[in-house]
Amino acid sequence: MAKLDYIKETVLRRNPNDAEFIQAVDEVLLSLEKVAQKHPEYIENGIFERLIEPERQIVFRVPWVDDNGKVQVNRGYRVEFNSAIGPYKGGLRFHPSVNLSIIKFLGFEQCFKNALTTLPMGGGKGGSDFDPKGKSDGEVMRFCQSFMTELYRHIGQFTDVPAGDIGVGGREIGYLFGQYKRIQNEFTGVLTGKGLTWGGSLARTEATGYGLCYFTEAMLNDKQDSFKGKTVIVSGSGNVAIYAVEKATQLGARVVAMCDSAGYIYDKNGIDLDTVKNIKEVRRGRIKEYVQDHADAQYHEGTGIWSIPCDIALPCATQNELNEQDAEMLIKNGVKAVCEGANMPCTPKAIERFQTNHVLYAPGKASNAGGVAVSGLEMSQNSLRMAWSFEEVDEKLQQIMNEIYRTVADTAKEYDMEDNFMAGANIAGFLKVAQAMMSQGIV
Ligand code: NDP
Repeated sequence: MAKLDYIKETVLRRNPNDAEFIQAVDEVLLSLEKVAQKHPEYIENGIFERLIEPERQIVFRVPWVDDNGKVQVNRGYRVEFNSAIGPYKGGLRFHPSVNLSIIKFLGFEQCFKNALTTLPMGGGKGGSDFDPKGKSDGEVMRFCQSFMTELYRHIGQFTDVPAGDIGVGGREIGYLFGQYKRIQNEFTGVLTGKGLTWGGSLARTEATGYGLCYFTEAMLNDKQDSFKGKTVIVSGSGNVAIYAVEKATQLGARVVAMCDSAGYIYDKNGIDLDTVKNIKEVRRGRIKEYVQDHADAQYHEGTGIWSIPCDIALPCATQNELNEQDAEMLIKNGVKAVCEGANMPCTPKAIERFQTNHVLYAPGKASNAGGVAVSGLEMSQNSLRMAWSFEEVDEKLQQIMNEIYRTVADTAKEYDMEDNFMAGANIAGFLKVAQAMMSQGIV
């Protein structure tokens, strides 16, 4: 019996219906067997048991009134997972698919990701099953105000600092911040992803997508390769996807496909990002509108983006969007690297296919850490009452992503799992949190 099987059993017993959370824990435990053998003190001190149990889980009612005067009720969540290395930190997701399992999986991943950034941030995540799509600005504002009217009592600049995620961008952060300030009568850096005129950081919008490409480039450089001349697919067309396309293109790649939840576009000439930004950031439209301006491009309904041949795949949409069959197709078409911009976009079987076929695979908790890293830098700027230039923040981001790659690659090697960046990320993130927990006693 493996040393950590008892932890898996505990997770299953306590969370029998939480498929995504169980998947995320299983993936991490798989990498930690060797650590458990080397460090019996972590088992003796219940580090693993404590790590899989969130410090606090808050579930609340969010009532609001729609434009027709009808009362609507959504469910709100904040899971404060682990505060061993800093205040809880992690985004808010507004999407109809949100439930406690999804928030717990995201919060759990966040603990390791935040540890990898080297910044002092614990792990947390939150959100609601509210769908901002198709809602008026007034409806989104009333929802955000109601959400914050409960959340405010649990968060604070030194306690828990939420940010954006799927469905939560600058508009939502603005409404949430406004309500927090009004209730608490204080102007503090309680949220990140703020507007540039009221405490936000330059380069935060770009950070996750750019960071993903910096990580990928570092990984490729280590193999005497680079983005230059490569054909790339980026799934999604939201915040992470758009800025991944921008940076990959700047680094010399040709991105040929993007998607949203309805379908995907293929443009063999390379995606024209200005058109995508206009559709998604300005008009809040659908990706299929791209072909109206680009006669050479094709639009296909449904999934299928991974059937397009490419050298590098960057899944940047959502969890479990790339399955075993997709992985097989990518491998058959000669993919060299798959780096996750989204959280847990590849299923466990897809990951296994990549690893056994020697495709370079980078897990989101390492490769998409750029967003939370710049959120950490936003917190620093708020505390200093200063604003750094775009170039300063971008340079720090690049440094952090290079360091994350180095740490992950070196840790994998140290544990005899060279090029297994999943194991490297899980072990390096775990060790940092575990050491802090050991120092702070049984809490
Ligand atoms: P956005 O809401 O800005 O964009 C999400 C994109 O993914 C949209 O284009 C959406 O399409 C698409 N999408 C959602 N579900 C599916 C699906 N089932 N199939 C295909 N496409 C889908 O979110 P973000 O870009 O902020 O986040 C994307 C991912 O990156 C998430 O996993 C998030 O947790 C992760 N992440 C985000 C960070 C950030 O800083 N924003 C930081 C680290 C990770 P549609 O419009 O049709 O719904």
